Amino acid sequence: MELREILESVEDPELERTMGQLGMISEVKESRKSISVSIHLPGIGYSQVDELRARIVSGLESAGVKASLEIDFVPMDESEQLELSLKLIGVVGGLAESAPGSDSHGAAGHDGAGHGAVDHEGAGHGAAGHGAAGHKHGSDTGVATNLPAHTRVLGIASGKGGVGKSSVSVNLALALASIGKKVSILDADVYGFSVPAMLGIDHPPMAIDKLIIPPMKSGIRCLSMGYFVAEDQPVIWRGPMLHKALEQFLTDSWWGAIDYLIIDMPPGTGDVTLSLAQYLPNMEIFVVTTPQPAAQRVAQRSAYASKKLRLSVRGVIENMSWFTGDDGTRYEIFGSGGGALLADTISVALIGQIPISVNLRKAGDTGTASEDFDVNQEAKQAFIDIATRIDQMKPTKRRSPELKLV
Ligand code: ADP
Repeated sequence: MELREILESVEDPELERTMGQLGMISEVKESRKSISVSIHLPGIGYSQVDELRARIVSGLESAGVKASLEIDFVPMDESEQLELSLKLIGVVGGLAESAPGSDSHGAAGHDGAGHGAVDHEGAGHGAAGHGAAGHKHGSDTGVATNLPAHTRVLGIASGKGGVGKSSVSVNLALALASIGKKVSILDADVYGFSVPAMLGIDHPPMAIDKLIIPPMKSGIRCLSMGYFVAEDQPVIWRGPMLHKALEQFLTDSWWGAIDYLIIDMPPGTGDVTLSLAQYLPNMEIFVVTTPQPAAQRVAQRSAYASKKLRLSVRGVIENMSWFTGDDGTRYEIFGSGGGALLADTISVALIGQIPISVNLRKAGDTGTASEDFDVNQEAKQAFIDIATRIDQMKPTKRRSPELKLV
């Protein structure tokens, strides 16, 4: 293989496409003993230089290239970024859904349906500002996103904070990933952004031109609205501000060829929930609750509100259902029956019950949720059962396949 071809086939760790597809290789100089290459890094805030270098070295080594290597990394200039961002959202080239290594949902098969919805609020917004009428996915009344047509959006909701909604969002994402699905998370819980911390994501999103690339850990991308709010600042974004910010996140971010987008919703039924319902009418809601029957009224309210917003409530997930002692005895610390009662009251299925796990709490606190997903097998299995069950459910509403001009 030619040197350039070898380099072109190396997969970029951040965008999960080859350097050839991304147009990252600029100059390749080769003499008898040494090679010097110039690699153009996509976007501002590219954080994977070390990993990329390691992949290049190993790619060359496994192709039997022995010469000494000098790599010059330079950021892409504005026009390269613009071109790449257009490729990624599918306006030019075919990169929008074709991820090497993504499962069968991947590319072409889905191209027909859903594509072509015109970005109806188009112009002024970031990536949409490219004038991209191209491959954004609209939905009946929702905002045009860069989500592939087959992506299911799961809204993880609760009546109040502290029931484990963020922990469920993160571990459900890990469980879906472990059964072979591509998953990302949108952390929209404006009262406590915790998803990046739980996953141990330590770098902000990257920007390619105006396209936001959410950072990734263990194959899961996470975009937190918290990246855009100073930590010591109270959440003063209200109503229209939040609405606008969310819209921008949904229109201007690139998630790759994901099967699932999990949204960690704010507790209760505030503005953000309303905006999300408006933007993502196909979102499927799963309500997280704890086992105390007395706590159900609050959870019920959130389920009813979702229904009122015409979102489809698909199921209840009961968290902190019991604690299993070393001798195998189950202790129902927070009582029992709450999940089943709620499911019954709102006429949906109880999708699963998750035990109390000290490891799960510790892993969340220390940012090792993905590394430690295996530590408590009982909790892991509960999440995998839930993930499998959700994956077997058919999405309730289908994105309308026809071209929609608004
Ligand atoms: P919410 O998003 O609903 O506010 P969190 O996911 O932040 O809730 O959880 C609140 C606290 O409870 C966190 O400290 C978390 O680690 C802990 N927690 C959540 N679920 C469990 C569980 N199944 N076992 C042990 N601790 C849990």
